[in-house]
Amino acid sequence: MPNPNILDAALTRLDEAARHVQIDSDVLEKLKYPRETMKVRLLIRMDDGSRKSFLAWRCRYDDTRGPTKGGIRFHPASTAEEVETLAFWMTVKCAVTNLPYGGGKGAVQVDPKSLSKAELERLSRAYVQAFAGIIGPDRDIPAPDVYTNAMIMGWMADEYASIQGEAAPAVITGKPIALGGSVGREDATARGGFYLTCHLTERLGLPPEGLRVAVQGFGNAGQHVARLFRSIGAKIVAVSDSGGAVHAASGLDLDALLAAKAAGRSVVQADHGGKAIPPEELIAVDCDVVAPSAMEDMIHDGNAASVRARVVLELANGPITPEGDRILADKGVVVLPDILANAGGVTVSYFEWVQNRQGFYWTLDEVQSRLKTIIETEGDAVWAIAEDKGVTLRTAAYIHALGRLAAAIEAHGTQQ
Ligand code: GLU
Repeated sequence: MPNPNILDAALTRLDEAARHVQIDSDVLEKLKYPRETMKVRLLIRMDDGSRKSFLAWRCRYDDTRGPTKGGIRFHPASTAEEVETLAFWMTVKCAVTNLPYGGGKGAVQVDPKSLSKAELERLSRAYVQAFAGIIGPDRDIPAPDVYTNAMIMGWMADEYASIQGEAAPAVITGKPIALGGSVGREDATARGGFYLTCHLTERLGLPPEGLRVAVQGFGNAGQHVARLFRSIGAKIVAVSDSGGAVHAASGLDLDALLAAKAAGRSVVQADHGGKAIPPEELIAVDCDVVAPSAMEDMIHDGNAASVRARVVLELANGPITPEGDRILADKGVVVLPDILANAGGVTVSYFEWVQNRQGFYWTLDEVQSRLKTIIETEGDAVWAIAEDKGVTLRTAAYIHALGRLAAAIEAHGTQQ
């Protein structure tokens, strides 16, 4: 269930970082509240002829460093506060990776699995109709998030173009390639986390060979990260999705798991070669890297002590609570923080936006090597801050971001 104080909890990380650097109080005051959050009820015609309404939001948290950027989530448990927190994290994430963006986020409170494809399309188009005034290529640029994908971004881009009366592909990223999407966007979130982990392997004390990885949440990020780790010879020892969890110390049959997902089934229904375990046990399996890859607050004061991995790779946004963080730090577990570890997605979104504006498209190799450079450069910078100040990588990432946010806030002028 969503934590009602999730934004307050998120802001404690900023305060923690501010304790280690000289930061003007103006900066912290500006980052404490979202700039604007718009709430709408979307009224949709269902296939049976009835009408149904869904709550929807778009938050532009902070635009000091550029137009706001962030995904749109379709989830039954979404709330205004969750959207604002996710938008706050986008603000920090874009600063960590030095993208010329502020942070935003959107959501519709809906279980998309309960809708037909036609209903989903009407909902996606209605979202853009409602928020056409708040989004824009130089204002606020949505993208996919939990339970949204390239197909939905395609419908949304098409709806925006109809409203504007002209093509405007840079208004949204994560589009299908046929509509101006970028090669390499599909697996970019996972790839960024994978590059970061591989880059830091030695420093993290991870076994270079035979890495054992557990993946919690098997959507876009989870599936791709499993595939990428397997490509270097790692074993995927546990995987979970909303239908359950499976485990095999000797390694699961990843192809069978991916095939089950492609057919719309749960990992527990796959011929996975392991045994089913209670989903809450996934984070406690014996492994080297555990990658929470879906929702917030998955590792908390009630279960953090049971983590046996050496490293937690945060592919989800906010999967560890502040109390969970403290317990993991005391145990010596290294957390690769979301605002760096899952920033591959928004980084390649930025590449897509740049390509749309140039009208000139890059090769897969160009996209991936530019992504690798950014993740490794910012990863090294965050690591150096952590060493220098004796703080966790999360606090170091916040310090790194705060420096860039503070410089931009100051450059805008101080008399307002
Ligand atoms: N939803 C992704 C995130 O949380 C990507 C956002 C984007 O590409 O704008 O980082």
